Amino acid sequence: MSEDVENKVALVTGSTSGIGLAIARRLARGGYKVVVNGLESEADAGAALTEVGAEAGVPPVYLHADLADGEASHGLAQEVIARLGRLDIVVNNAGIQKVAPVDELPPADWSRIVAVSLDSTFHIIRAALPGMKARGWGRIVNIASAHGMRASPFKSAYVATKHAVVGLTRTVALETAEAGITCNAICPGYVWTPLVAAQVADQARVHGMSEEEVVRKVMLAPQPTRRFVQPEEVAEMTFYLTGELARSITGAALSIDGGWTAK
Ligand code: NAD
Repeated sequence: MSEDVENKVALVTGSTSGIGLAIARRLARGGYKVVVNGLESEADAGAALTEVGAEAGVPPVYLHADLADGEASHGLAQEVIARLGRLDIVVNNAGIQKVAPVDELPPADWSRIVAVSLDSTFHIIRAALPGMKARGWGRIVNIASAHGMRASPFKSAYVATKHAVVGLTRTVALETAEAGITCNAICPGYVWTPLVAAQVADQARVHGMSEEEVVRKVMLAPQPTRRFVQPEEVAEMTFYLTGELARSITGAALSIDGGWTAK
């Protein structure tokens, strides 16, 4: 491992569970100093922190922040810089879901979905960029979704937010292209995580299906591979994007969706 890698600090938002936890583990194994973030207290995040620490050989820094709050999002990036002196790699992963017809979606749920995924991505990028520009190096990976490229019914806020994350990614990439910084979006299909497990019952209700049918006909039907993407697959792609050999990949929306968006 090069000393350069060891000195780099990576923030992964929403990394106490699912895809974010897999990414935090992979970046820790790759030698970066990883900051884990989530909604939970540090005690409740203990199991995740142990997993990330086991990869790194040292416990990771944990910073609680509710990314539905713009000031807290900006403050999270600032606190990383204050505590660790720099912020080289940002993975904007935190996200939430709500399954409901658009005319039944409570406005508060719309606003929270947009705030957690899109607004926090803007606030954190905004706080991280000055330091990245000053050092002439930075990596930003935004976890969007196949729903950043395709729509599905009953997910209006999520689909709108993920499309917007892809647009933000492209814009930041153009603005930073000559500064040694890359900004990319990863667009996974269905990955079996607590976020997906929690929506099976709601999907069954709005589609009028059993939960088993939801998994087969709603979740796996759009993915030609007919299997869930594994969190580790998304983590490996993220790790690759942080490396030197990925310096020419910027402004991309990279699919990892079992062929969903090939159709
Ligand atoms: P998950 O529910 O397992 O984990 C979500 C994480 O976000 C947790 O660590 C949670 O603490 C954190 N979080 C939620 N609200 C937060 C808030 N207000 N402030 C701070 N942290 C908050 O979800 P997941 O399936 O691993 O999803 C991670 C990302 O991947 C999301 O952006 C999601 O949209 C995206 N994604 C997931 C899938 C999938 O099928 N699971 C597919 C495509 C994209």
